Amino acid sequence: MSYKQPEGFISYCKEWETKIGAFTEFRPETETAAVPGGAAPAALRLSSKEEARLSSEALASIAGLPFAVKDNIAVRDFSLSCGSKLLADLRSPYTATAVLKLQALGAAVIGKTNLDEFGMGSSTDNSGIQKTNNPWDENRVPGGSSGGSAAAVAAGLVPFALGSDTGGSVRQPAAFCGVVGLKPTYGAVSRYGLVAYASSLEGIGVLADTTARTRAVFAAIRGRDPLDDTSRETPAGAPPLYGDSQNRRGITRRDSTGIIGVLSAEAVAKAAAGLAALGGQDGAAEAAGAAASAAVLEPEVRRAFDLTRERFAALGYKLTDVEMPSLKYGVPAYYTIAAAEASANLARFDGVRYGKRPDWAENPDDLVDKTRDAGFGDEVKLRILLGTFVLRSGFQDRYYLRAQRIRAGIRAGFEALLGGPDYADAPAMDAILLPVFPTRAFDRGPSSLSSFAQKAADLYTCCANLAGLPAVSFPASVEGGLPVGVQLLGRAFSEGPLLDMVEAYEAAHPFPHPPGYKAFWEVNQ
Ligand code: GLN
Repeated sequence: MSYKQPEGFISYCKEWETKIGAFTEFRPETETAAVPGGAAPAALRLSSKEEARLSSEALASIAGLPFAVKDNIAVRDFSLSCGSKLLADLRSPYTATAVLKLQALGAAVIGKTNLDEFGMGSSTDNSGIQKTNNPWDENRVPGGSSGGSAAAVAAGLVPFALGSDTGGSVRQPAAFCGVVGLKPTYGAVSRYGLVAYASSLEGIGVLADTTARTRAVFAAIRGRDPLDDTSRETPAGAPPLYGDSQNRRGITRRDSTGIIGVLSAEAVAKAAAGLAALGGQDGAAEAAGAAASAAVLEPEVRRAFDLTRERFAALGYKLTDVEMPSLKYGVPAYYTIAAAEASANLARFDGVRYGKRPDWAENPDDLVDKTRDAGFGDEVKLRILLGTFVLRSGFQDRYYLRAQRIRAGIRAGFEALLGGPDYADAPAMDAILLPVFPTRAFDRGPSSLSSFAQKAADLYTCCANLAGLPAVSFPASVEGGLPVGVQLLGRAFSEGPLLDMVEAYEAAHPFPHPPGYKAFWEVNQ
């Protein structure tokens, strides 16, 4: 049975969308294949093995609902612009596995959302298509790169959306817009249908209005996919996504108290300052100093972080300070690896196989040059140049290989605290609490964050990608009229316990909404 979206919902969506511009393509009238809150349509049933993983409660969080998909994830017959002028006219001939799994449960894609071109950025302003505004304040950015998905969920146009997270692109916009953002363990969700930016770092993630829905969507999309060889089933021994009723507090150790390690801004700033002290040539020390100051939390973010800490303590968790000196190398390592992989992944956009090509070219090389010159924005060009530089023969030892060693060090640092791949080993703590971004949603005026400061500020998010670990960002509080997010990071495949903790927080401190927000079921009658 199909379900037609009511007029009230369609006009609510259109009104918001003219203000925020979250979508690159928007079809709010799309019918869903099931009634909201109902069971999955019989004709579209998943295999019984998969179905068994979804409780009826979870199914009700997805079935019959409209959802949005970041425009770098393929949905058949929709655009796949990747936020790039070069691909503005591209229609996808196929659908990503994660999207297919949600459609099979009776959810329907009602649009594709705006992003920083190819996922490169932290504001969505690097989109070659349009600007997206933050629903809390239209003069501010929604964050990025999944800014369109975050804005659409925050404004109530969809209860959930898919995004991609290479270095923070689900968690940071979720924090800027006041929604939940889950970056799953590397490989937990198939990347088939996600246009690659930095393949070894990224994955498809979930943005949603509540923790329960975030969990349900993740339950639906995860799992091994033969079309993506890096995708994996949850390993034996890993904590269950829907834990038993005695342990819905996210405790993974053989103990009754949950222990949360706190990686405070001071600890991170101290590490970042250490980088400046290392000195180096060609202005490296100055750059490192500027990066360290860009990582300092603004007072409102600081207040929200301290408040979260107190609130978790009041909920019965034990909080303990942790340090990770290797984090000071996180941003340089992240940008070295991400740019290197981007320069290889974006080589396919040559005007021959994909994209808008020029009307006239002298020869094939000229065709490629002209296509890229007109099609790619400045940030993308910068990253390609950086990537080809760090991969130049003779330079690999100096940059790329060193970055890979740092990456291994960061992973080992987290494993020492949270436990490694052997689930029989009891970890020292259940999760790590850390900031998402040093500022709240910033504006577009002269006080806007520079592109350099935005990169330095990825410090808090990119480490989860370097280590391949799951992390979830959620709204901690509203400060000065804008939401502030914090994140919890856990050992591989510990999404269940992480979401348990967030759910405990949400139950005591319900998540906020921007003025003018109406829940899907309020406009949908
Ligand atoms: N700001 C980061 C970058 O530009 C995050 C990107 C992402 O996660 N896609 O690389």
